[in-house]
Amino acid sequence: MDANINSFLNWSQSQLAEAGVLSPRLDSEIILAHTLNLSRTDLWTQGKRVLSESEVKNVKKFMERRLNREPISLIVGHQEFWSLDFIVDENVLTPRPETELLVETALNFILSPTAKILDLGTGSGALAVAMAKEISESKVSAIDIDPKALSIAKKNAERHGVANQIEFICADLRKCDWSGCFSMVLSNPPYIKSADIQKIMPEVRNYEPGKALDGGVTGLDFYQAIIPMAIDRLEENGFLILEIGHDQADEVTALLDNFSCYRNVEVIQDYSGYDRVVKAKKKNG
Ligand code: GLN
Repeated sequence: MDANINSFLNWSQSQLAEAGVLSPRLDSEIILAHTLNLSRTDLWTQGKRVLSESEVKNVKKFMERRLNREPISLIVGHQEFWSLDFIVDENVLTPRPETELLVETALNFILSPTAKILDLGTGSGALAVAMAKEISESKVSAIDIDPKALSIAKKNAERHGVANQIEFICADLRKCDWSGCFSMVLSNPPYIKSADIQKIMPEVRNYEPGKALDGGVTGLDFYQAIIPMAIDRLEENGFLILEIGHDQADEVTALLDNFSCYRNVEVIQDYSGYDRVVKAKKKNG
């Protein structure tokens, strides 16, 4: 094989396709660009560039990891979300494109430029950082049970110049042992049913943190904790905005309907047409 960029792209694409990877061309380009420290556009214009021996070795090493179904985000160590580049590792859930809908919904309902926002289960900090960037005078409290996840979230906040807007708290979001009054409570909690974890794609099942995915037997454990708890943490007219699994809208809205202070409950679909976000407004009395 001619060891140039084009031939490597074709080789890695066919290997990945054969292994059942969903986006073999894109992943080959990301691996090659990462190895050679080039952009994906550079790959197209430098297709004839020959790889050195050590570059070949590195491409093969990354390819081996991808063939073992390690997510591309963990191989390259970062992921774009809300047009920002986030550091990720095995301690945090890689931010998903559909979660951008949560940011979009939150921005539609933000009440004041000095909003106080609570992000429950922040993981990589994607939601907290995106909100802090968008609302430059806001203050965000970002909670996570895992100190290793929080240290990634802090790095992301520093990287995007919003560390001074975000307070990081290590706590179990089901225990509610922190105080404060917020204009908005956001969460993308773990929501997969424990029994379904084994059925999800190997990239997620084998490499992403189980505690960021597992929502208990019904998948609803965290909604059952967050929904009553947010009542005490939200100010009047504040919003609770939650990401949900595509088949959880009825169950989550039913949980909200148990509390008369939640009004204007709305389910919002993502760009694939799946129910993805539930929003509710808190009203006293
Ligand atoms: N959307 C994620 C997935 O399908 C799950 C995220 C979550 O549990 N919050 O892998």
